[in-house]
Amino acid sequence: MRNRPDLESLLAPYAARSSRSRGRKYPEELHPLRNPFQRDRDRIIHSTAFRRLQYKTQVFVNHEGDHYRTRLTHTLETSQIARSMARVLGLHEDLAEAVSLAHDIGHGPFGHAGEWALQELMAGKGGFEHNAQSLRIVEVLEERYPNFPGLNLTFETLEGLKKHPVKQGLPRSRRFRTLEADLVDLADEIAYVSHDLDDGLRSGLLEEAPLKDVRLWAECEREVLAVYPGLENAPKRRLIIRQVIDHLVKDTVATSRGLITARKIKKLDDLQRTRLPVIALSDKLKREHAELKRFLRKNLYLHHHVVRMTEKGQRFLKGLFKNYIAKPSQLSPEVLKRAQKDGLERAVCDYVAGMTDRFAIQEYKRLFEPYE
Ligand code: MG
Repeated sequence: MRNRPDLESLLAPYAARSSRSRGRKYPEELHPLRNPFQRDRDRIIHSTAFRRLQYKTQVFVNHEGDHYRTRLTHTLETSQIARSMARVLGLHEDLAEAVSLAHDIGHGPFGHAGEWALQELMAGKGGFEHNAQSLRIVEVLEERYPNFPGLNLTFETLEGLKKHPVKQGLPRSRRFRTLEADLVDLADEIAYVSHDLDDGLRSGLLEEAPLKDVRLWAECEREVLAVYPGLENAPKRRLIIRQVIDHLVKDTVATSRGLITARKIKKLDDLQRTRLPVIALSDKLKREHAELKRFLRKNLYLHHHVVRMTEKGQRFLKGLFKNYIAKPSQLSPEVLKRAQKDGLERAVCDYVAGMTDRFAIQEYKRLFEPYE
């Protein structure tokens, strides 16, 4: 049988290497077939929290339509973009994939509205922040192994998940930097602007006409029409969005290559000495990307239809949370066991944050509607 192939010798000198990993909190034997970052990826895929992403909101609440992105498909698109860029930059694709697949695992139901509701409910009680929650899930809450809590991921994957460690006491300066994790942050941004454009247009909440004033869109449209004159509607929009991703990815690769050289990043240690961006868009694309984000915020995320759905989501979560706190005997033995360890509020927060959109809606009906 062929054993774990040594692909790591082919990586760029500044890539992370599982053979030089700082290891896992609970030491484990190496696997004969898979490197440690591959095992991290596999543990994430097999986790319960990962499967729940399927029924959690990205922008559109899950039951609004079968073709809209959910947290799961957003996660897969992020992973695809991160892996493509990792490969061409000589970085560790398995680490980029593991971090991508777990990057949104801590999100509650109902997208950002769910996050705001949990923040409000947990104010003064340790707070809530989805990146910190992602870490809590993989380090504490997933129960899959008899001899340790969580998934026992490698140090590098865990550090890659520490993205906005502001609210739950994780100083940003503690982050051990890898270019793979930095790459995932940008891949996430590339994925969501492009797929939110797609979903927004598909739903009819976004109109195409005002996009002509958004530079990146206008530029990509010109390119598409140069090859397919007269193309219109959905076929044209699909190509424009494809082109948007392509521009952002190619620019990231070119700009990052330049920055790796300019900042003299020759090995992974060199990266620890700087907080400056190394994986980045050029100034031009950064401005255009920001313009597109502003457009989406104004026209999609703050669209009255989206706001109404998210307001409703917040009401569900607040109702559930307060009801459980007032009468904890409604909670399952597992949640009550967690409450003994970490306090009732934290245990209820974990429980509610873990819910999918549809479970939260069903549970709300069960608790509050007289004929359910
Ligand atoms: Mg994301």
